[in-house]
Amino acid sequence: MSTFSLDPGADQLAVRDWLHGFAADVMRPAAAEWDEREETPWPVIQEAAKLGIYSLDFYAQQYFDPSGVGIPIAMEELFWGDAGIGLSIVGTTLAAVAVLANGTDEQIGTWAPQMFGTPDDIKVAAFCSSEPDAGSDVSALRTRAVYDEAKDEWVLNGTKTWATNGGIAAVHVVVATVDPALGARGQASFVVPPGTPGLAQGQKFKKHGIRASHTAEVVLDSVRVPGHCLLGGKEKLDERLARAREGVRSGGGRNAAMATFEASRPAVGAQAIGIARAAYEVALDYAKTRVQFGRPIIDNQGVAFQLADMKTRIDAARLLVWRASWMAAGNQPFTAAEGSMSKLYAGETAKWVTAQAMQILGGNGFTREYPVERMHRDSAIYSIFEGTSEIQRLVIARAISGMPIR
Ligand SMILES: Cc1cc2nc3c(=O)[nH]c(=O)nc-3n(C[C@H](O)[C@H](O)[C@H](O)COP(=O)(O)OP(=O)(O)OC[C@H]3O[C@@H](n4cnc5c(N)ncnc54)[C@H](O)[C@@H]3O)c2cc1C
Repeated sequence: MSTFSLDPGADQLAVRDWLHGFAADVMRPAAAEWDEREETPWPVIQEAAKLGIYSLDFYAQQYFDPSGVGIPIAMEELFWGDAGIGLSIVGTTLAAVAVLANGTDEQIGTWAPQMFGTPDDIKVAAFCSSEPDAGSDVSALRTRAVYDEAKDEWVLNGTKTWATNGGIAAVHVVVATVDPALGARGQASFVVPPGTPGLAQGQKFKKHGIRASHTAEVVLDSVRVPGHCLLGGKEKLDERLARAREGVRSGGGRNAAMATFEASRPAVGAQAIGIARAAYEVALDYAKTRVQFGRPIIDNQGVAFQLADMKTRIDAARLLVWRASWMAAGNQPFTAAEGSMSKLYAGETAKWVTAQAMQILGGNGFTREYPVERMHRDSAIYSIFEGTSEIQRLVIARAISGMPIR
C-alpha cells in the first residue's frame, strides 16, 4: 500500500475551516478600512487572540504538526482573508521563529509567550535584521553587539530598517555583528526585552501594499541587554566564532538571520498563495456574471484560459510550499533549495495572478470598489521581503550547481 498522500487529514481540515470562517467574517469586512488607515488593526488582532488564533499555543501546534502543512494551511487561509491584517496577526511569528531556530529551551520558554501577550493584553514582536546598507547582503550588517564582561551585558548600537512591528513590539529580536571581520559568520541574535532603554522607533514607512502592517526603522542607541538575551548562549557563540576564525565552516554556512529565513520561506510562500487564491476567486465569479457582447466574458476562451492558468499556477505553487514544509518537518535538508523554490514561485504567482484578476475585472479591477486592486498591491511585497526573487534564484542556482554563482 502506498503511503504517499496529499490529504492533510481531518484535524488540519477542521483548522482550515475554522480559520476560513474568521478570515471571511472578521478579516474581509475590515480589510479596506485598515488598508486606508495604514495602521495596525489592534481590534482585529484582539479578536483573533480571544478566539485563540493569535496565540503562541496555536502557532506552536501548527509548527509542530508532523505533516508540516499546519503552518502553510493556516497562512493561506488568513492571507486569503487579507494580507495586511494577516501580516499584523502573524508578524510576531517571524520573531518567534528566530527564537525557536537559535534559542535554548529556556529562552524559548521565557520569550515566546511575552511576544504574544494575553487576549486581554495583546503584544506583538519584531524581527530586526535588515539595515539601510544591508538588505539582500545580510553579511554587511553594521549593528554592533559588544560584550561587557564586568556586567555580563551586551551593548547594541545601530539602525535597523523595514522591521515589521518595529518600535511597537514588546519583544524585538535583533541580529547584530559580534565580529565584523567574520561577515555573516560573526553575527548573533539578541532578544531586546520589553521597555529596554535606548531602543526607539525611527521612521514609519508609508507603503504600496500590506498597509495594515506596521513597518518601521528601529534605532538602537547603547541598548544594554543581559547576557542571557544572546540567543543560543555565549558558550555556543564563542565556539562558533572560534571555528569561523580558524576557517572551519560550521552549520553548513548558516548564520543567525539565514536560519530564520530558511525556516520561514515556505510559510511566506503560503501567504502569497492565500492572496492569489483570493484574487482568482473574485475574478472567476466576475467572469461568470459580467456580460459583454451578449454573453458572460468567461465564454471567451481568452478569459477562460487565463483563469485556467491562474488556478494551475496557484495549485503548483501550493504543491511546492507543501513539499518544502513536509521536508522541513522531516528534517530533510533543502539540497536543491526547496524552501527558496517555494517562496520564489508562490511570490511570483501571487503577483501574476492578481495582475490577471485586475485585467479580468476591467475598469472595476482598477478601483478600490473591488478587492483585487488591494490584493494586487499587497502581492508586490512577495518578490521583495524574506529574500527577493533574485536572491531566491541565487540560492537555488548555488544549491543545484554547487558553484559560487554571483
Ligand atoms: C514591507 C516590508 C517588510 C519587511 N519586514 C522585515 C522584517 O520584519 N525584518 C527584516 O529584517 N527585514 C524586513 N524587510 C526587509 C526585506 O527583507 C528587504 O527589503 C529585502 O531583503 C531586500 O533588501 P533591500 O530592500 O535592501 O534591497 P536590495 O538588497 O538593495 O536589493 C535591490 C535590488 O537588487 C537586487 N539584488 C541585490 N543583490 C543581488 C544579487 N546578488 N543578484 C541579483 N540581484 C540582486 C534585489 O533582488 C533587488 O531587486 C521588510 C521589507 C519590507 C518592504
